[in-house]
Parts: sequence; C-alpha cells; structure tokens
Amino acid sequence: MLHTNLSVNSENHLTIAGQDTVTLAKTYGTPLMVMDEDRVRQNFRVYRDAMNQYFGGASRPLFASKALSCKYIYRLAGEESVGIDLVSSGELYTAVAAGFDVREAFFHGNNKTDGDIAYAMDCGVGHFVVDNLTELDRIDEEAGRRGVTQAVLLRLSPGIDPHTHAAITTGQVDSKFGIAIETGQADEAVAYTLNKKHIRLDGFHCHIGSQIFDITPFCDAAKLMIAYVAGVKNKFGYDTEILNLGGGFGVRYIKSQPILDYADFIRRIAAFIDEEVARSGIKKPTILMEPGRSIVADSCLTLYTVGGTKEIPGFKNYVSVDGGMPDNPRYALYQADYTVCLASRAKATPDFLCTVAGRCCESGDILQENVPLPKPERGDILAVLVTGAYNYSMASNYNRIPRPAVVAVKDGTVTPVIRRESFEDLIRNDL
Ligand SMILES: *Cc1c(COP(=O)(O)O)cnc(C)c1O
Repeated sequence: MLHTNLSVNSENHLTIAGQDTVTLAKTYGTPLMVMDEDRVRQNFRVYRDAMNQYFGGASRPLFASKALSCKYIYRLAGEESVGIDLVSSGELYTAVAAGFDVREAFFHGNNKTDGDIAYAMDCGVGHFVVDNLTELDRIDEEAGRRGVTQAVLLRLSPGIDPHTHAAITTGQVDSKFGIAIETGQADEAVAYTLNKKHIRLDGFHCHIGSQIFDITPFCDAAKLMIAYVAGVKNKFGYDTEILNLGGGFGVRYIKSQPILDYADFIRRIAAFIDEEVARSGIKKPTILMEPGRSIVADSCLTLYTVGGTKEIPGFKNYVSVDGGMPDNPRYALYQADYTVCLASRAKATPDFLCTVAGRCCESGDILQENVPLPKPERGDILAVLVTGAYNYSMASNYNRIPRPAVVAVKDGTVTPVIRRESFEDLIRNDL
C-alpha cells in the first residue's frame, strides 16, 4: 500500500488505521474524509523532535495551517507543542476558537488588510511575517496606537527555483511573495524596519515552494539566507534571531514518488546550516521551518460513492462519484497526482482504465485520469488517497454542494471532527 496506515481487510475492504472504510462510508455518508489521528500526531512529533535535536535551541516546526485549517487540527498542534503559521484572520479566528496559544503563531500573507493587522494584534499573535513595506507601516502605526512593540520577520524572496509545479513555486524574484534580495530591496527594507519605532525585527523568512523531494533547494535557500544574515550583520550590525526557512517537503501521492524520511532531511539540512553558519561567522539564529502538506496529507483519505459509469468506445471510460472539485479542486487547478482505488473491492483486478469525474457542471471537474480500477458499479465506495492537505481547506460550495464531513479515527474509535454541511448551512448567508 501507498502508506503504512492503509491496508485491506478480510472482507476485501480498504482500511485506514485499521478502520473499515466501507463501514465508515455507510455510517457517516459520502463524500467523507477520514483522518488517522495517530498519523498526524506522529508527523508533528517527527518534525518537533528532529528540529529540536538537529537545529537545537528553540527551534520548532510551525504547522502551515492553510494545508488544513479547522479546530481539530489546531487542538492537535497545541497538544503536540508545535507552532503554527496563518494566512488570514479566518484561520486565526479558528485557531483562537480551538484554544491555540497564538503567541506561537506567525501571520503570513502578501496582503494583510488593516482589519487583519488589528485583529491579529487583538489576539496577541506572536509574529507578523511582513511581505512589503506598506504593510510594515500599518503594523507600526497600529502597534504605536496600542503602545506596544510588535515582533516581525521580513519575508524575502531568495531567487531559488525548487523544480516543482509553477503554481506552487514561490521563492523566485518574480513572485507576488516577499522582498527580493537580488534587487537590493531587501537591504532597503531592513534599514527601514530597523528605524521603525514600534517594530522589533526578529529575523527573516523565505519559502521556496511545495512538494519538493530533494534537500538541495532547501540547502540553496539556507546558504543564500545565511549569507544574507551575514551581510546584514556587516552593514547594519544587526544580529538575526530567527531564520525561518518555510515549508515544502514532498509527500508520496503515487507509487513512483518516494516516502521521505523527514527527520533525516532535517538532520542533513541542519548539518549544512551548521557549516554555513561556521563559515560565515554569524551567531546561529533559531531555525524554524513550516511544514504543512507533509503533516496532514498522508493521514487522510476521501471516500465517495460511485454513481454512473460511462464507456465511450474508442475514447475512454468515465466513472462519476458524489463529490469532486468542490471537495478536491487540486486536479482541476494543477493536475495534481492522486492514487485512486475501489475501497469496496480493494483487491479485485484493476482491469478498467477510467477517468474519475466529479458531479459538477464543469468538464474540468475531474479527480484523476488514467486510473486502473476493477470496473466500478453504482454503489461501490471509491477512495482517493492522501487527501489531508489542501483538500478540505480548498473546498467550495460550487453547484451548492455541501462540504463533506470529516471524521478522525484513533485506537478503533471514530470521532466526527467537522460536520457535513447541511442545505441550511448553504443558505445561511442568503438574504
Ligand atoms: C504554503 C506554505 C507553507 C507550507 O508548504 P507545504 O508545502 O505545505 O509544506 C509554509 N510556509 C509558507 C509561507 C507557505 O505559504
């Protein structure tokens, strides 16, 4: 199986964390997202322990909560003593509602509104990661008005190409994110920030992209950022306290991709950082990283009920399910890879090649193409694997389709963590 939490039981049903997915689908309805809580906790711990051991000091992971934002996940993050990063007031509101200590939160985004800035300060968010100087002015003003000093990092774009999909690349100079080092704008921003009365500059951030399977881009980014930190020390006499290298570790969605050993990744990146720090003679900053996808993706799968199957002789076969782009827009957005299997007959011969389509009025509403399945029949349960990241958090109500329910499984018990949206929910804001 693709991941160790997946298996097939004696009834020929797919299981996750030992739970029969067909039983779950019958009990809770479909589409249904099922999360393996132990897997999420284990992923948190792998990063937490490895970063503590290899980066040392106060180093810790910040869960990039845009990958999955709901009260349940912020509660787990709090219980596992990891920080979070946020991109919006809505994510912040959710974290606060979950009782998360948002002093451990970093507020990102390339366009924080005045409302975001004020609300984040109301909540006591620990750090803003500043994307541009107009935003910095607003944060300084707001902090001044409140008589407080706000800690910030500056987000820099280091000019790194991580060789991943263009839609999920973020660290090049031509990007909507961050302040470019190459153009000299980063230096100007540092000088500007150090002169702000109500701002404390704690350091720098970069994030190079997502779904990266190799440590080289991370080391390239670290090298550039450490050189930058050394340059800033020379030019401004400024010691960087925090160096946040972002997220982006790859996840196995399909068999041809590896399962990464994240602890070993951290160990190797840490060794590289130590060499660069020693070479440059700077005081070693606290190193932070922001895994999102690799915390939640492999803990989850999505279950659907098969509806019609359409065979077009000489062309292809379509299998339609009762969800699609409303709960998982990632294939429609950027042809994301997924493994699809027939959960209700998991070991039957996959001799029917098909396109798995959603139920929306949109030809692009596809979950995956060229999928070999046992020929599905109406009522079969179909599973899309590794859907924990950027699925529920990207979900919409297109065609007025309610968002799915999410349940967590742990030690043989099932706990609903997000209720299925009702039709009433759909019209709640309609006047
Ligand atoms: C999206 C994002 C992350 C997380 O990336 P993953 O690929 O999910 O690990 C981390 N930091 C920032 C700033 C991001 O935008």
